[in-house]
Amino acid sequence: MVELLIKNGVIVTMDSKRRILEGHSLAIDGGRIVEIGRTEDLQRRHSNAECIDATGQIVMPGLVCSHSHLYGMLLRGATLSIAPPSDFTQILQRIWWPVDEALNYEDAYASALLSSVEFAKSGVTMFADTYSGPNSIPGVLDKICMAVESVGIRSFLAFESTERHSKDEGLRGVQENVRFAEMISKKNESKTKALFSIHASFTVSDELIREVKKTAERFHSPITIHASEGLVDLHHNMENYGKRTIERLSDLGLLGPNVILAHCVHLNSKEVDLIAKTNTGVAHNPMSNMLNAVGVSPVQQMITQNVTVGLGNDGYIFDMFENMRAAFLIHRLNSRDPNAIDSYSVLEMATIKGAKLYGMEKEVGSIEIGKKADIILIKPNILPTPLSSDTAVNHIINTVDGDDVEHVFVEGKQIVKDKQLLTFDEQRAQEISQTAAANLWARLRTSTAQIDRIQTP
Ligand SMILES: [Zn+2]
Repeated sequence: MVELLIKNGVIVTMDSKRRILEGHSLAIDGGRIVEIGRTEDLQRRHSNAECIDATGQIVMPGLVCSHSHLYGMLLRGATLSIAPPSDFTQILQRIWWPVDEALNYEDAYASALLSSVEFAKSGVTMFADTYSGPNSIPGVLDKICMAVESVGIRSFLAFESTERHSKDEGLRGVQENVRFAEMISKKNESKTKALFSIHASFTVSDELIREVKKTAERFHSPITIHASEGLVDLHHNMENYGKRTIERLSDLGLLGPNVILAHCVHLNSKEVDLIAKTNTGVAHNPMSNMLNAVGVSPVQQMITQNVTVGLGNDGYIFDMFENMRAAFLIHRLNSRDPNAIDSYSVLEMATIKGAKLYGMEKEVGSIEIGKKADIILIKPNILPTPLSSDTAVNHIINTVDGDDVEHVFVEGKQIVKDKQLLTFDEQRAQEISQTAAANLWARLRTSTAQIDRIQTP
């Protein structure tokens, strides 16, 4: 007797054999996948189990967003009346750093809540977030954790340490991660895990990077850092250290399998070699890279060299199907090669490779016996061509959007049913987010910290 059968459907397993099954069913019990077999067989043996018929649907592992900033949600739609930024550095100086300074605990909670709602409804069952806000440091990860857990998805949460204002600011950021990691380590089973985050090598000293490395290892936690996102990172390291970004991080002993480098746009071959040699992970953020006009990451080269590359949204568009489509397209255009990257490689980034980045590949990221049942069912609103094991992956990349996600399970618990969130009042979450955003925008209009103004629409 098992708790749940998901029968039929086209099951895109993302296992090492790349199996895509038809006429099969999944049995789920105690939060895990306990059987995968022919539908007739499982139905006969588990005739009393609750059953979901997925005929005409895609059944696949929940999506993983490998790099996010949940508070990015609060700027969506904001009209900026600032002197237009002409490069990435000015985008940080004129938009994001003033926003960071204006953020408060209410914003952290509200944005984490609605971002989690949007993630859940569009099939994301795990994400990694780094929060940045020099005026809301101690205890902020508890607020974010509370919001995420009320929606019920899996997460890695961090405060982004930076020494942009002072050395002390950097240490206070690390301290918040330590406090949160200690709290999480006392819990028996938690869907929330601690992550350590460093903003980027151009806003931190060698000492802080070493300190984070040492501290995160104490908690066996992963570490993430923005790396060579814009040219400013590369130029800073060349000017001040005579090294390229990845060379400096390597010389500091930061690189390794527990480290996730976000972006990695401006790399040369030697840097890709260093990343590959040290089994360091990379979170690719194609939509954010396009938005900020920073360039295109050499993802094909990294995949060829067996670097684990996951997919992130960097706090921009939360629908990971859109992010997958962007990854699928950007490398074709950039290399003028229609074979630059295939659908399956992109899907791997948003599932099993994302799980691997965070050391979770034995638990989630694919549909295999023994793994936690983080599973989504997709019922496309419009399906112009047949769905089968041959076409499913191409449909995921070319047809499906987040609002085609019908059901979502995290560790066997259903959190989205018939496209409706079961765990939190979605309307209430929107109201909380809109109130926080309006207040944030009002504060930004009068803030002395910012260089220019952000105007509400
Ligand atoms: Zn980022």
